[in-house]
Amino acid sequence: MSKRKTRTNLIHGGTRRSQYGELSEAIFLTQGFVYPSAEAAEERFVGAGEDEFIYARYGNPTVRMFEERIALLEGTEDGFATASGMAAVNGALMSMLKAGDHIVSARALFGSCLYIVEDILPRFGVEVTLVDGADLDQWRDAVRDDTRAVFFESMSNPTLELVDIAAVAEIAHAKGATVIVDNVFSTPVYSDAVAQGADVIIYSATKHIDGQGRTLGGVILGTREHIRKVVEPYMKHTGGSMSPFTAWVLLKGLETVDLRVRAQTSNATAIADALSGNAHLSRVIYPGLESHPQHALAVRQMGAGGTMIAFEVKGGKEAAFRFMNALEIILISNNLGDAKTIATHPATTTHQRLSEEMKAVLGITDGLIRLSVGLEDADDLTQDIEQALTAM
Ligand SMILES: *Cc1c(COP(=O)(O)O)cnc(C)c1O
Repeated sequence: MSKRKTRTNLIHGGTRRSQYGELSEAIFLTQGFVYPSAEAAEERFVGAGEDEFIYARYGNPTVRMFEERIALLEGTEDGFATASGMAAVNGALMSMLKAGDHIVSARALFGSCLYIVEDILPRFGVEVTLVDGADLDQWRDAVRDDTRAVFFESMSNPTLELVDIAAVAEIAHAKGATVIVDNVFSTPVYSDAVAQGADVIIYSATKHIDGQGRTLGGVILGTREHIRKVVEPYMKHTGGSMSPFTAWVLLKGLETVDLRVRAQTSNATAIADALSGNAHLSRVIYPGLESHPQHALAVRQMGAGGTMIAFEVKGGKEAAFRFMNALEIILISNNLGDAKTIATHPATTTHQRLSEEMKAVLGITDGLIRLSVGLEDADDLTQDIEQALTAM
């Protein structure tokens, strides 16, 4: 598409200007479009061109700007914007699967993703094999000649375990399976998933792409052929499309996502360094730390440690709650990727639904805290955590 560099594309990519020459992207808050003649309407329904729209569920100029800008960032040919990250996950899977198909999925998934692969897909006759995403032997054993797709989060929530995209793609492609990656925790800024072999890449734009807690959104990225022939027909007829207003918020988010994610990562690195060895903690998990068992993979796959940290306080749930209640700057919430630093207790909130055995398998202990690092001053954040650990 464009030879321009990422920072330039994030400001100008996909822009469409109306006859008024507006500086900021216009919000085309319209669900329909008018045609100059009956013949023109007929022609457009036969095949709409690049900048010809029919109905907002199918496409809209503001939404198209967002799709093109995020596709430029990810390095894919095309993308389809969705109402939420979950609409993207559901759309990416349902648009290409049918009864009788087999997929292999990592088991460490965001709760709603796990619901789709464990509960919904089997109801429609899709056979699902769950594996430990970090264990390549399990992928090798599970992927069969008739496997249609593999699905995983490239960095798991909340324990920040990485899946080696290139290695899993090699296993999947050897059997002709499509590689679908939910790349939220890696962020589009640190993603090189296309080069690593991912065929379809999904983001919840609610997270870093908005990054300011305002809206839900998502996107499915891939080749033009796959997006327009497989994803679009499913999405446009089932109603999970993005609203033009959301697309506008997210276009503005994309203008600063590179700066924000890098600054948040720098804060996360400073906090992880400061917390390592703290006597109140039994574990500090951050892929950017050399102590992380997959540090080398994190450097190779993302080139950075990302914006998320997890740590385990000594003293279980009571201590974890005392710690969270003592925080003064850091907020208790379950969003992530935001400008505001957020602490989450996964065992009692985001991952409450999981069985005790599954929590144990995934390392979601009662003392585990997930920290989404924001844009505040790193010293203030470190001091806030340290004073809350002492108070605990
Ligand atoms: C948040 C999240 C989703 C879902 O996104 P929504 O925008 O909340 O629908 C999917 N996958 C991962 C990894 C997430 O963190």
